[in-house]
Amino acid sequence: MEPESVGLLRERDAADRVVVPELQSEPHVSDSTGVSASLFPDGYIEARARYRSFVEEHVIPAEGALGREDDDALRLIAALQQRAREAGLWAPHMHASVGGTGEGFLYYACMNEAIGRSYWAQLVFGCQAPDAGNAEILHLLGTPAQKEQFLEPLIAGRARSFFSMTEPDVAGSDPRLLRTRAVVDGDDWVVDGLKWFSTGAEGSSFGIVFAITDPDADTYDRGTMILVPTDTPGLEIVRPLSVMGHEGRAWNTHCEVRYSGVRVPLANTLGGRGDAFKIAQQRLGPGRIHHVMRWLGQMQRAFDLMCAYSLGREAFGGPLAEKQTVQNWIADSAAGIQACRLMTMDTARKIDEGSEARVEISMLKFYAAGVLNDVIDRAIQVHGARGLTDETPLAQMALHARAGRIYDGPDEVHRMVVARRVLRRYSAGDGWQFT
Ligand SMILES: Cc1cc2nc3c(=O)[nH]c(=O)nc-3n(C[C@H](O)[C@H](O)[C@H](O)COP(=O)(O)OP(=O)(O)OC[C@H]3O[C@@H](n4cnc5c(N)ncnc54)[C@H](O)[C@@H]3O)c2cc1C
Repeated sequence: MEPESVGLLRERDAADRVVVPELQSEPHVSDSTGVSASLFPDGYIEARARYRSFVEEHVIPAEGALGREDDDALRLIAALQQRAREAGLWAPHMHASVGGTGEGFLYYACMNEAIGRSYWAQLVFGCQAPDAGNAEILHLLGTPAQKEQFLEPLIAGRARSFFSMTEPDVAGSDPRLLRTRAVVDGDDWVVDGLKWFSTGAEGSSFGIVFAITDPDADTYDRGTMILVPTDTPGLEIVRPLSVMGHEGRAWNTHCEVRYSGVRVPLANTLGGRGDAFKIAQQRLGPGRIHHVMRWLGQMQRAFDLMCAYSLGREAFGGPLAEKQTVQNWIADSAAGIQACRLMTMDTARKIDEGSEARVEISMLKFYAAGVLNDVIDRAIQVHGARGLTDETPLAQMALHARAGRIYDGPDEVHRMVVARRVLRRYSAGDGWQFT
C-alpha cells in the first residue's frame, strides 16, 4: 500500500487543516448523519459508518497503487476483497439469501454514500458496475440452471461479467437501431455483430448480449438478451478502447467485442425471446440509480476537498474561503448534493416499493450527472493547478464523472423521457403530481 502524497487526502485528520476561526464551528468533513437519521431505517447509519471506516482505512490509502493497474494492483484488490468479506461488507447490493449482505435499494443507496467516495471501492466490496446490475437481472429472471452457472460465481466474486448493447455504427441512445443479430439453428442461438463500450469485458467470464432475433416483429419485441460465455468460439475481444487517454485493464476496460457465428444453447436466453427491450429497462433503470448512488460519495468527497483547501489556501490578503465566488461554489454545491441525496433516497424507496420509477430515475440521472461534474469542476478550480495533478483524486474523479453524462443514456435522452411523460399527463387532462 502507498501513502498519499499530500495531507489533503487524510480527510479525517482535522489537525492538519489551517484554521479560520469564524468558520471553525462548521464540520469540515461532510457527515450527513443529521439529515440521514430521518431518511433511513434503524441500523443503516451504523452500517454506513462501517463502510466509511473501511474505505478510509483500506481503500483510499491504496488508490495510488490500485490506479497503476499492474499485477500488484490485481493482487491488492484480491486482498482487499477478502478483507471486505471477513468484515461482513461483501455484496451490499444483494440480499443475504443469495450470498450478499444487502437489504434493498434504499439500504444500498445509503451504503454508497460511503462506498462511492473511492472509485475502486465498488470492486473491493464486490458491487461494481456492470456486475451489480447484471446480478440483479439474473436474480430476477434467471432460470435455476442460469443462476447456478452465471449468478452464483458472480455474487461470490469468482467471476465478472459485461453488458453488451451499444454498437459503434448506430446511435446507442436509440436501441431500435441495433444491428447485432441472433438466429436459431437447432438448439442454439448463433450471434453475429459488433459491439463496443462493453465495460469490463476483458477478463470476464460471460456477457449479457442484446441481439435482434425477430426483425419483423413489433419494434419492441424484436430483441432478445442472451448469456454468452466469453470463451465461446467466435467471441473476440477486439481491443479495450482508449477512453480519455486511458485503456484500463480487466474490470476497468471498455471493450470492442466482435461476435462471429457465436453459438450458445437456446437455454442461455435470459427472460423470454423478444423481451430484450423490456429487460433493458429493468437492467438499466436500477443500474442508473446505482451509478447515482456512487456519485453521491464522489460529490461529497470533492466537496470536502474543496472546503478544506479553500480554508487553507491564501490569496489577496485572506483564505480562498473568504472570497464570495468560492462561497457561492460551496453553497451551490451543498444545495446540489443535498438535492441529489434526497432524490436518490426517494427513488430508491419507490423502487423498493415495486415502482418502475421511470421519471424519477431519468430525472435523477441527468440532474445528478450535472451536479457531480459541477462540484468536481469547482473543487478543481479552487485547487488551481494542483487540482489537475494527481496529488488529489480530483483529476481522476473528473475523468470518470464526464462519462456519467453519457453512459446509461445521455443527459438529453433522459430529459426527453421526463418531459414526454410529464407532458403526456397534461395532454390527458391531468397534471404532474410530485409524489
Ligand atoms: C464509460 C462508458 C461506459 C459504458 N459502458 C457500457 C456498457 O457496459 N455496455 C453498453 O452496452 N454500453 C456502454 N456504454 C455506452 C453508452 O451507454 C452509450 O454511449 C450511450 O447509450 C449513448 O450512445 P452513443 O454513444 O451511441 O451516442 P448516440 O446515441 O450516438 O448519441 C450521441 C449524442 O446525441 C445526442 N442525442 C441523442 N439522442 C438525443 C435526443 N433524443 N435529443 C437530443 N439529443 C440527443 C446526445 O447528446 C448524445 O450524447 C458506455 C459508455 C461510456 C462512456
